[in-house]
Amino acid sequence: MVSIVKAEESNGMQLFEKLIEYAEAERLVLENTSPMLKESLPLMEARGLALAEDIEARFDSPPFDNSAVDGYAVRGRDTEAGKIFEVVDEAPAGRPSAKSVGEGEAIKIFTGGVIPDGADAVVMVEDTSGWGGTFEIGKEVPVENNIRRSGEDVREGDLMLRAGTEIGPYEVALAASQGYGELPVHRRPKVVVLSTGTELVEPGERELSPGEIFDSNSFAMVAQCHDAGAEARRIHAASDDAEVLRKAVEEALETADVVVTSGGVSVGEKDLVKSTLLDLGVEQVFWGVKFKPGKPLFFGMREDVRFFGLPGNPVSAMVCFELFVRPALMKMMGRSDHRRPTVEVHFDEDISNRFGRMHAVRVSLEKTEDGLLAKSVGAQGSGLITSLTKADAIALIGPESEVKAGETVEAIVLRDF
Ligand code: AMP
Ligand code: MG
Repeated sequence: MVSIVKAEESNGMQLFEKLIEYAEAERLVLENTSPMLKESLPLMEARGLALAEDIEARFDSPPFDNSAVDGYAVRGRDTEAGKIFEVVDEAPAGRPSAKSVGEGEAIKIFTGGVIPDGADAVVMVEDTSGWGGTFEIGKEVPVENNIRRSGEDVREGDLMLRAGTEIGPYEVALAASQGYGELPVHRRPKVVVLSTGTELVEPGERELSPGEIFDSNSFAMVAQCHDAGAEARRIHAASDDAEVLRKAVEEALETADVVVTSGGVSVGEKDLVKSTLLDLGVEQVFWGVKFKPGKPLFFGMREDVRFFGLPGNPVSAMVCFELFVRPALMKMMGRSDHRRPTVEVHFDEDISNRFGRMHAVRVSLEKTEDGLLAKSVGAQGSGLITSLTKADAIALIGPESEVKAGETVEAIVLRDF
């Protein structure tokens, strides 16, 4: 194992101009991407995007004092067990009563109904003799009982939601409660995804011939884009023929904010992606990262288009997407949380990394009394897609490090565990 890694490394050193550190690559990606233009979108379309501006409360909410229960609005000081009340009107939600509550009087009220003048408490119907023209109260109720005061949720002018916040169901509810029909967001980036490789066949289309495999990367990457909230479209996989590749990349560059390719970006003779891109005027920011799996990662830009050339090995492509493409998409959407959540984890055995590159180890996580215990999902080969279907997180083991059993390292959480 070690000798293969060394050979690969020394080979790489000759052919890659310069391998940069993982953190440097992440920094360069983020520094070279910026939030998309702002637009206003209807509430339902804004879901999953980030707020482009702070949102203030337009008025006190709830806008009026109202009842928290079904019952009777009364004067608290009139209440005492056994007392009889006369019902003078009713105040269902949406139809305030014009009458006011005097001594010994009550107004029938339902949840959300406006508290009538004169009343300062609501007694639940369960604490009375029941519905009718008169009723007997079962107990004394304090002033303010079951009253929801105007402004107790938000006050006019309050900063309700900060720019950068992801708009989820609860943010939609808060905005709607304040009458916002649209919200200011950053446009979703349009991603074009392209797999390269003469060996690739569309899944579901036909059987494989010898030497062929089904294209999985482009489907994975579209799913990863959607997961991040970006729009994505895949172009039918391109062969390793230079002309076919060039046409496909040209088409992608014309319509996309972000182009993501997989395969053909390493140092083999059929690896034409990088030279094709440079020919088409894409400026290289970096090519080659001290990262495993995913050393040949390419990142470049042409005007407003960002270009990621991910390696072809499925795990490399998907892990590089998580760690480099996803943060860029998040930043473009104005999200303040570029990365997935991270946690501190430990192993119950010593872990060593002699690859000289940051190793993204796929792990399962288990909650223990000593914190989160990470366990390797098993073989970590860059072609083993099951290493990702089994993983809860990606533990980052720094270059050349020896992590002792019990020592903590950072892990990027991929799913609930
Ligand atoms: P490459 O980076 O093009 O040299 O590809 C590295 C490995 O990943 C090869 O075994 C390819 O067959 C495989 N591979 C490349 N593209 C895909 C893809 N879209 N889906 C699945 N495997 C792929
Ligand atoms: Mg290839």
